[in-house]
Amino acid sequence: MNTPPTVAVTPKAEKSLSRRHPWIFSGALRQAPTVPEGATVAVRAPDGRFLAWGAYSPHSQIRIRVWSFEEKEAIDAAFFRRRLSEALAARGKMPLLSPCTALRLVHAESDGLPGLIVDRYGDFLVCQFLSAGSERWKETIVAELGRIHPCQGIYERSDADVRAKEGLPATRGVLWGAAPPDLLAIQAGELSLWVDLARGHKTGLYLDQRENQTRVSPFSPDAEVLNCFCYTGGFGLWALRAGARKVTQVDASAEVLALARRNAQLNGLEENRLEHVAANVFELLRTYRDSRRQFDLIVLDPPKFVASAGQMDKGCRGYKDINLLAFKLLRPGGVLLTFSCSGLMAPPLFQKIVADAAADAGRTVRAIGHLHQAADHPVSLNFPEAHYLKGLICLAA
Ligand code: SAH
Repeated sequence: MNTPPTVAVTPKAEKSLSRRHPWIFSGALRQAPTVPEGATVAVRAPDGRFLAWGAYSPHSQIRIRVWSFEEKEAIDAAFFRRRLSEALAARGKMPLLSPCTALRLVHAESDGLPGLIVDRYGDFLVCQFLSAGSERWKETIVAELGRIHPCQGIYERSDADVRAKEGLPATRGVLWGAAPPDLLAIQAGELSLWVDLARGHKTGLYLDQRENQTRVSPFSPDAEVLNCFCYTGGFGLWALRAGARKVTQVDASAEVLALARRNAQLNGLEENRLEHVAANVFELLRTYRDSRRQFDLIVLDPPKFVASAGQMDKGCRGYKDINLLAFKLLRPGGVLLTFSCSGLMAPPLFQKIVADAAADAGRTVRAIGHLHQAADHPVSLNFPEAHYLKGLICLAA
């Protein structure tokens, strides 16, 4: 077997690697190796000591993603079999809703497999290959997955924007076995949900919110609920199940609202307690404010407003705006569940924005819960960047 080429890195990168952080940025390389995209390289300190095996990505600012810090560990099919098996075994120890037939089996860097996402939906697996390294090992990964996790088919949803940063084209389709049905029903606790694996957002569902969606239950009996950025309805459906008087599901996409409606039917939840509104949340909240409409429970789960450092100011203003409006629409004693999935925004900053919004709305607000992404989206302690979703349960006086 050929010995992988060597890449020397700066002392600063060496320090980061010694703490087992898996990313090496372009500025940390002493010189560029001439290797194919995604090829394995040996990363060495300025004095030649071995530091890590990594995948080389010539087009990305994250130039190398580490597969292993063990010099004796070969990066081959057996390596991927081990890492995948470890990730699957770890799911057995995670506190997850039960029954739960849709969950994340591999959460990229946090499962020791940079750039690889694997989600399970019933008898189907959906993969995203988001880095040059995971792309290069696609065939091996798919073969090993099929071997260790019995399923009907493995589908690819590598159509996420981040692929472009790696110089990879968007792609989707069947990788192995059967094509998934147009709609597949999954179980999340007592809730059943239709999922469109080929055309839904991300890999089909926002699995990171599965447990948080149940948190609306205690505030729902007899409540008037506004679920903003509802996608296929999760938070609102849990509120209905828990006895909400009325739930308004809001999303900009009429297509996802159609699925939210079908999800209500699937769970036998009465249409007469439901309203579906296709609208821009920023505008709708203003309309409701002007018409003095009030709610007992509001959920704000917007898309990522801060996708790069340059979008921070605008993103902060966006979060402030919708939270301020939401506080104005809450009845006394009302509850706001508010989220940010922008990884670049640290939880204290998000909390400060929500605090500023409450103050500007003239409300006294207590946080009675701090929420995070579901346990099957773990955060490796060497890689705090993996913690992206944060939320607050706010009780407004
Ligand atoms: N709360 C959902 C996930 C929300 S994802 C869940 O638990 O499953 C964000 C959603 O916001 C997407 O469905 C997207 O269509 C919608 N969206 C994005 N911008 C919007 C806007 N300005 N107004 C209304 N909906 C918007």
